Amino acid sequence: MQEEGKKLVLFFGPPGSGKGALSQMFVEKFGWLQLSTGNLCRKHCKEGTDIGQQINIAIKSGKLVSDQLIINMVMDYLKNDTNGCQAVILDGFPRTVFQAEEFVDLLKIYYSKFTIFFIKLLITREELVARVLTRRTCSNKSCQSVYSEREESCMPLVPGICDKCGNKLFQRDDDAIDSISGRLDIYYEHENKLLNFYKNTGQKIYNVNSQDTIENVFKNIEKIIGGECDID
Ligand code: ADP
Repeated sequence: MQEEGKKLVLFFGPPGSGKGALSQMFVEKFGWLQLSTGNLCRKHCKEGTDIGQQINIAIKSGKLVSDQLIINMVMDYLKNDTNGCQAVILDGFPRTVFQAEEFVDLLKIYYSKFTIFFIKLLITREELVARVLTRRTCSNKSCQSVYSEREESCMPLVPGICDKCGNKLFQRDDDAIDSISGRLDIYYEHENKLLNFYKNTGQKIYNVNSQDTIENVFKNIEKIIGGECDID
């Protein structure tokens, strides 16, 4: 049974807008759960599962993974991993209208009592490219923490090493210069359709300026969703 007072936070924004880093901060500060479809995809790739092999091709070429694979992964995750948590952050899902439509059904099953906060991160394309090119990710598939080579507050304590688990950092293939432009185009292609879908379903969308220090962006989101209320 779901209890009242639980929160579902949807981060929506282009690659590099800070979804992953902000999610990590909420996980660390409040013990919330992060469902990152990007992390799930990369985990499957590393494990070399059947799904992983299909996903690998899409990710490496900067394309979206098929809607049905994503929905199946999310459903598996929700069935097993969200029991007993106070808040769940969705990072990178839903990303297409098809996924959003399917998600409406999932909401009824898993999140009927959750308050939903839809957070849209605003940032210029120029800044996104700079961020993605300097993003580094932990190579440990169970960690995948994100760091920056450019933003001081997001740098690792030891260059090239993850603060949390001590594994090596690397640059994702899809964060290389060749992939970024295409990835941003794909994101923007879906953005308007998704926003219209949410507006039509009456979902309130909170716009947050993400072109600021990560600490300030975090504080602004915290004010919207009232994070401090959830520590028990
Ligand atoms: P970013 O937000 O920087 O694109 P993610 O880690 O969220 O990074 O996603 C990386 C890749 O994983 C995407 O480019 C895409 O191929 C795949 N992916 C993640 N989430 C989805 C999704 N909801 N639908 C389709 N593909 C996805």
